[in-house]
Amino acid sequence: MSTITTSSVPESLQSFLSSPKKLFIDGDWVAARSGKCFDVFDPSTDQVIGQAAEGDAADVELAVAAARKAFDSGPWSSMTASQRSRLIWKVGDLIEQNADELAQLETLDNGKPLAVAKAADVALAADMFRYMAGWATKIEGSTIPVNVPYVPGGEFHAFTLKEPVGVVGQIIPWNFPLLMAAWKLGPALATGCTIVLKPAEQTPLSAVRLGELIQEAGVPDGVVNIITGFGETAGAAIAAHDQIDKVAFTGSTEVGKLIVKAAAGNLKKVTLELGGKSPNVVYDDADLDTAIAGAADAIFFNQGQVCSAGSRLFVQQGIYDEVVAGVSEIANNLKVGSGFDSETQMGPLVSREQLERVRGYLKAGLADGAEATAGGAALDQPGYFVQPTVLKNASKSMSIVREEIFGPVVAAMPFANDAELVSQANDSSYGLAAGIWTRDISKAHRLAKSVKAGTVWINCYSIFDAALPFGGYKQSGWGREMGHAALENYLQTKSVCISL
Ligand code: NAP
Ligand code: MG
Repeated sequence: MSTITTSSVPESLQSFLSSPKKLFIDGDWVAARSGKCFDVFDPSTDQVIGQAAEGDAADVELAVAAARKAFDSGPWSSMTASQRSRLIWKVGDLIEQNADELAQLETLDNGKPLAVAKAADVALAADMFRYMAGWATKIEGSTIPVNVPYVPGGEFHAFTLKEPVGVVGQIIPWNFPLLMAAWKLGPALATGCTIVLKPAEQTPLSAVRLGELIQEAGVPDGVVNIITGFGETAGAAIAAHDQIDKVAFTGSTEVGKLIVKAAAGNLKKVTLELGGKSPNVVYDDADLDTAIAGAADAIFFNQGQVCSAGSRLFVQQGIYDEVVAGVSEIANNLKVGSGFDSETQMGPLVSREQLERVRGYLKAGLADGAEATAGGAALDQPGYFVQPTVLKNASKSMSIVREEIFGPVVAAMPFANDAELVSQANDSSYGLAAGIWTRDISKAHRLAKSVKAGTVWINCYSIFDAALPFGGYKQSGWGREMGHAALENYLQTKSVCISL
């Protein structure tokens, strides 16, 4: 265990961080069975700011037993939907009441600018619980007229029931730690499931605090269990567990495939929200000032650590130089620094590993012949800082165009016409999101249909709302988060047929 350096920790968080964070199992805060903890880092200083319990398969076992009990015989399943709804709403209220602290925790642990943590992560997380609280009382089946050909004259009353899938394992990433927990927990709670949640090892803190708020709201013991720890141990145990009925995962496509394999043992249901390499398209008839600012924001928001980041920038050929110059100018002027500095527009990457990954892509892109018109390197200072980067002369054979970088690096490419654009935009194994900037409304509608992506933003980017479904085509995932579409991931349909 390293020494905790509290120099970067705001005073308000010091007491929370002064002791190792525990696992939340069956309503109790407990150390890992192994007694092990792992260090938690501040990405802006590379210093240890706390410890979290290192849960593994033995702890997952206890958490699953608690979730099983709460689902099979516990108070959650016997509560009315309206009682559940009020508790879920209360979690949203408590997030809002503790918004400052949660935003600070997120900035400290993940690195993102504090204003972003508060306005986006925390506010959207509160919204998600409230939106899903509303759905808890509106889950209903239907009555279905049946005409059974081999029972002439038979009379039946048939209907469907929507029932919770059961115990769900939820494995989430580090880019929006609190919000990803909210996206996962909200629909699971609304449908009446119980949960074992594993936050990412890089960012366990806000999930632990959320667990405290869930307890404060009065959600019964065992309904939500939180296991901090590593993917290869705790995460893998969740994915493979035969008493877990469904697993919901957000993270890399590579690990998503491992989850699918592990889930095959008991054929648990699987939903996946995976990577992306999303095209962001600027036409020469767009409002260029807005489009240029939007293209910069699409890639530099959250340090580019966004699964739907606009990382392939396609610009119509006549305005290519102008748009690349405009985005580069914004990149060169972005204030990069600690998320706690109110001037900061872009914080550090989440971890040393992520910094090395992004650096590797920058080197590969430049070696392949791309040219940096902004950035192109890491910052020579403590913390995991990288320059906002624009690479032109990019082409589709390069790894910077084909692979998800998950950093503030955009590859710019020209296109001539719609047909060429659609073929280039869809030339990816991913299909998470796309942006289109044009004043031509018919073209916008046509392209929205032609692009293979789960979300298409027109004259905007990175617009998220609890009511809007989000998820991937192709290898970007299975199922949808948010909106009523997310409920389907946690429900199963039972047909009941009565002979009259
Ligand atoms: P990752 O390994 O896919 O991590 C996501 C989650 O899966 C974490 O909670 C992780 O736990 C867990 N995990 C890892 N291995 C597992 C396994 N074998 N079984 C079950 N769970 C497992 O992602 P990463 O390594 O943090 O980042 C690598 C790349 O993934 C990024 O550069 C980016 O391209 C992509 N990514 C995408 C998203 C997204 O929103 N779609 C988010 C994050 C990363 P630990 O963190 O504790 O190991
Ligand atoms: Mg951290």
